[in-house]
Amino acid sequence: MLVVALASTAAFAQSATITTLSKGTRPIMLVIHGGAGTILKANMTDEQEKQYRDALTQALQTGHAVLARGGSSLDAVEATVRVLEDNPLFNAGKGAVFTHEGRNELDASIMDGATRKAGAVAGVTIIRNPISAARAVMEKSPHVMMVGKGAELFATKMGLEIVDPSYFWTERRWKALQQELTGKPQAELAPASEKKFGTVGAVALDQAGNLAAATSTGGMTDKQYGRVGDSPIIGAGTFAENESCAVSATGHGEFFIRWTVAYDIAALMKYRGLTVQQAADEVINKKLKTAGGEGGVIALDRNGNFATPFNSEGMYRGWIGSDGKATVKIYKE
Ligand code: ASP
Repeated sequence: MLVVALASTAAFAQSATITTLSKGTRPIMLVIHGGAGTILKANMTDEQEKQYRDALTQALQTGHAVLARGGSSLDAVEATVRVLEDNPLFNAGKGAVFTHEGRNELDASIMDGATRKAGAVAGVTIIRNPISAARAVMEKSPHVMMVGKGAELFATKMGLEIVDPSYFWTERRWKALQQELTGKPQAELAPASEKKFGTVGAVALDQAGNLAAATSTGGMTDKQYGRVGDSPIIGAGTFAENESCAVSATGHGEFFIRWTVAYDIAALMKYRGLTVQQAADEVINKKLKTAGGEGGVIALDRNGNFATPFNSEGMYRGWIGSDGKATVKIYKE
């Protein structure tokens, strides 16, 4: 009897939410990250900090414009991540870090919380915006993940923008690789955070109440050929389902894969009834921290509640909701 009563209360609560939805009062929310790592104010000039803040704000405004006009969360996260991929400040797209051999091998993934459809590419070298290739895999192929040459051929056939691998060369990332290889600091190397991390990601909630997540990266400086991190792995670096939350991760990918970070947060919400903040905190600040896995996540639920925990010194992050006011944060605060 009790079970029946609870079930009908739950059903009522759900239909009440749906009524609110049809009146168009549903909140929109976009949360982004631009990588986590040793990001300290002491290592950053005012000018550098301003560049990051401006870039994150621009990305937030791009995604918000999509959501505010009734666009889907999928469109919003893709548009947002493309802005970050095109900006050399971040370790994704233009600005990707170098492999040990001095190449740029990019990974990306995207997931639709309404349908649990997902797409990913890994180890690609000529696709200007890997996040759009991930979306093409999701929508235009029967698969979830494509890698290397096959993914590049597919993206070419889908009409995505193809660039020469040299497009991804940036002096700052090159110096970061030299520093890693020689162990010697390179002059004018940008903030210490640039050493390894800097992946970008976005999670969004649209007016229809649907969640989506997207992540894009160049991986980790000095990675071995063919190494793939967590960013294109659904359930590790990216996950979205309306029932629980949308998650995008950044950090030491090997740990994020082994701890299935993105899905673990969703599972803690579903099976243990934790809030998005509690679940994300538990995984990042307890499980991963204990294991020595550095990094953070952005996580968003269907009611617009979100969390941005990280166990590193800092994480480039920001959010923007229905009021259109962008908030950007970098350090622990
Ligand atoms: N998670 C990414 C990877 O391991 C790196 C990062 O987030 O900076 O490939």
